[in-house]
Amino acid sequence: MTVAPDYLEPVEGWRLWKVVEQDRRSFLGSLFYGGTWNYLVPLSAACEHRRFSLRTPWRRRPSGHPAPEEGCTCGIHAAFDPSDVLPYLDRFAGHRPYCALGRVALWGDVVECQRGFRAQYAYPTRLYVLDFGQRSRSRFDLPPETVVQDLDSYEVPVEALAVGDDDLPEWLTGNGIRPDTVVP
Ligand SMILES: [Zn+2]
Repeated sequence: MTVAPDYLEPVEGWRLWKVVEQDRRSFLGSLFYGGTWNYLVPLSAACEHRRFSLRTPWRRRPSGHPAPEEGCTCGIHAAFDPSDVLPYLDRFAGHRPYCALGRVALWGDVVECQRGFRAQYAYPTRLYVLDFGQRSRSRFDLPPETVVQDLDSYEVPVEALAVGDDDLPEWLTGNGIRPDTVVP
């Protein structure tokens, strides 16, 4: 693992997001933290970890370091290979009507890990709205055209793709989403 501060050009990786609704508009939402990615504003990483101290074991303190830190797991994560985010996609099918897969530009301090990056700043560069179909749409009734239109506010290319019952890695390849489309 190496820290490479100040990449001159952003690197790119793959991410998966929830599609969240706020005031009848769709946004990208982080999978594991409650954060929402705003339109036209780069996301800035913060360390969410809390330090444990033997002197005050009842209280966890903020980690106090900027993200990403080499010895931590903080930073905005992105994978080199889109197939590495697929295990998370499985969790969505049947539970959420949509999620978003896409590429992100990463810059500032960037830590390169075994299967991707952890970065200080990120912004999407390409989005695919993955539509899991009618069976799960009841909890979120925006039609896919509206979700695509909302996500257009990130001002990057957005495309809706219906996710069928195909094998997911094959489905990605069939839609032109391949590891070699990423240049780390
Ligand atoms: Zn941290």
